[in-house]
Amino acid sequence: MCAAWAAGEPQGSGGPDDWHWQLRHSARTAKALGAALALTQLEQQGALAAERGGLPIAVTPYYLALCDPRDEHCPIRRQVVPTARENEPNVGDSCDPLAEETHTPAAHLVRRYRDRALLLATDRCATYCRFCTRRRRVGRGPGARSVTELRPALDYLGDHPEIRELIISGGDPLVQSTERLRGLLEQVRMRTNVGVIRLATRVPVVLPQRVTAELICALRAYHPLWVMTHFNHPKELTRQAREACRLLVDGGFPVNNQTVLLRGINDDARVLAALFRGLVETRVRPYYLLQADCACGMGHLRTPMQVGVAVMDELQGQLSGIAMPKLMVDAPCGLGKVPVGRDYVVARGAGVTRLQTPGGEQVEYFDPA
Ligand code: SF4
Repeated sequence: MCAAWAAGEPQGSGGPDDWHWQLRHSARTAKALGAALALTQLEQQGALAAERGGLPIAVTPYYLALCDPRDEHCPIRRQVVPTARENEPNVGDSCDPLAEETHTPAAHLVRRYRDRALLLATDRCATYCRFCTRRRRVGRGPGARSVTELRPALDYLGDHPEIRELIISGGDPLVQSTERLRGLLEQVRMRTNVGVIRLATRVPVVLPQRVTAELICALRAYHPLWVMTHFNHPKELTRQAREACRLLVDGGFPVNNQTVLLRGINDDARVLAALFRGLVETRVRPYYLLQADCACGMGHLRTPMQVGVAVMDELQGQLSGIAMPKLMVDAPCGLGKVPVGRDYVVARGAGVTRLQTPGGEQVEYFDPA
């Protein structure tokens, strides 16, 4: 593949298969959304409000084509079309629900764990998700940060060799030129002790055309590189999205998926079972099912905590172990991730534990003498 690219294999057609074309033709206004979808009054108001400030609108033509133009409840449409309900306040809402701004030891770097850090390399995304937890920062800044702007963060990483994993996020790090991304990865490899780099990206979902042979060739020089992506619904597992994942996996990038649990979109065991099975068949590991963060503007998309627990309980035993993600809450105030779930232990005695199976039977497990 790399040889073909080096020999001048054309990348992108300048048409819908070209990721630049997709970005150039994205819907970014209420008018553009209205031309493609029959917007409700709430959606129209939400889109006009998004134009005036806050999280902007951007939907690639590819992803827009997955939206049902007549159904306001379409699970794809609800992820990207604003609604006036984003302006309703909710208990616990915060503009910075994970306290990232107070865990920033250097510009554009967030550190909440001893051995991991998060680099916010850009504020741009291919498509702005209405459930974005980082809506305070994405969409309206100067775009991808240069290596010079990221130098204090790189210096900090160099001074802290105990940081072994770096998550490069944003925004979406793959919505920048391959050359710029390569320059950043080179600096991380040269100046820090980071072992594993994770790229947090929604590109395979909303802009699969971005995953080209050129990108794979450029990135594989910096292995071990993992890709963390973000499929939320089985409708997103299109032929193009599966092909993007195939290219990544064949290029040696382990691909993990974090699904956000979203009200009326995927808070249903049948929907999630189809998604998780489809991911495994695509060689993408369902890694986390995330309880939505308490970010301002997304209260209408959050589910009560018990919904996720009940859904996982229903899936337990139905799906194989490799298709079962962990249900996680990213604790408010930046206190880190907390696994949640039903307790299958019903009683503990001296040397014996009583378990309840997902099928409802009870059984005793004896400790060794
Ligand atoms: S791609 Fe990620 S950072 Fe960008 S809007 Fe969606 S959730 Fe937020």
